[in-house]
Amino acid sequence: MNKIKQSTNYKFSGFDTVQLAKKYGTPLYVISEGIIRNKCKEIKTDFLEKHENTRAAYASKAFLTMTMCEIIESEGLGLDVVSGGELYTAIKAGFPMDRVMLHGNNKSYDEIEMAINNDVGRIIVDHIDELYFIEEIAANMNKTVKVLMRVTPGVEGNTHKYIITGQKDSKFGIPLDKDTIDKAVSIAMESKNVELLGFHFHIGSNLFENDSYVTAIETVMKLYKRLKDDLGFHAKELNTGGGFGIYYTEEDVVKPLKYFTDSIMEAVKGCCNDLDLDMPAVIIEPGRWIVGEAGITLYTIGAVKDIPNIRTYASVDGGLPDNPRPALYSAKYEAVVANKCNMEPDRLVTIAGKCCETGDILIWDLNVPEIHRGDILAVLSTGAYNYSMSSNYNKIPRPAVLLLSKDEERIIVERETYEDLLRKERITF
Ligand SMILES: *Cc1c(COP(=O)(O)O)cnc(C)c1O
Repeated sequence: MNKIKQSTNYKFSGFDTVQLAKKYGTPLYVISEGIIRNKCKEIKTDFLEKHENTRAAYASKAFLTMTMCEIIESEGLGLDVVSGGELYTAIKAGFPMDRVMLHGNNKSYDEIEMAINNDVGRIIVDHIDELYFIEEIAANMNKTVKVLMRVTPGVEGNTHKYIITGQKDSKFGIPLDKDTIDKAVSIAMESKNVELLGFHFHIGSNLFENDSYVTAIETVMKLYKRLKDDLGFHAKELNTGGGFGIYYTEEDVVKPLKYFTDSIMEAVKGCCNDLDLDMPAVIIEPGRWIVGEAGITLYTIGAVKDIPNIRTYASVDGGLPDNPRPALYSAKYEAVVANKCNMEPDRLVTIAGKCCETGDILIWDLNVPEIHRGDILAVLSTGAYNYSMSSNYNKIPRPAVLLLSKDEERIIVERETYEDLLRKERITF
């Protein structure tokens, strides 16, 4: 039944999304400052203030702009970066460097030098060679670097295989074989320029259960005990990574942050009691959880193609270049027709992107009311790993990023132009 109740437009964070689309054009990334700040406040009340000696760093690869750095800074969190470019963004935003941690499985000489030069808080060492590398660079600069070592605790987060990272067969981290770990720790203990404070693991992304965190903690705390007994090494910190799952579709049974963090703290405390260890500082690194639900993407519907008895494709003016996640990980999204959000959905359409790739489908079988060219589609929960993973495939300019605040909206990243696409090209003919 196609009941038209009232053609009310879809509102996000108090703003009429159809008007935003009209004013700023589409595709458009829309980010709610309020939602981001509420997430940060939840981290504060349910983790930082609830448990002593804890810290939280935002994993900036999920969504990073200088404005985002300012928001995270003002909420008192730290920042994870994984490249020179992310570090540069934080530096330009004036982010306090002692709250920055540099990650990465293949940091370059220049990236490490840049990090040490700027006195970043921690470098997370990914393998033994890198430890020598960091030591050499730090020694040349006459500095001491605080590091954690990333280990693979051998647990597999129950998520897409491209985003599990805690298993032993991984390009990330140091495996927990006794010889390997002991060698790494001994090198660090003898080093004048590297100060090893503890270990880090990140078992995967978009996890909905706490059991893999608990298993990983039990494994790493046994390591802490063994290193204390065998090498006299006292680990002072434990970084348990990010990966807390968020709402994308009805299939997702989302748990509050404290479901994860309470069990993390309980597991660490339990292990310390059982193994007679001092409680380390505990650090978490949520990325997606802070920004994912704070973003939506607005598109304009173009071609609507009905293939009788098969399916209807409705194409939007973006897709793979602004959101590669469906093509990359079969990620699922919900969406609403923003200018018809009070009309009863009565049919299924497949939302296609505009790229020359069969795989460029944003949503299979979305429930919608009748749709036409010119309708506005709002795809939800696109705040994480959309803008940051965007490309110019098919020479499509990247959308603008619009930040919604209490009573104002502002463009924090301008829409790319065709000239931008050619800016780095040299004419050689
Ligand atoms: C990506 C990443 C995170 C954040 O993951 P989310 O799933 O976005 O929370 C945290 N720590 C490290 C080391 C990462 O690589």
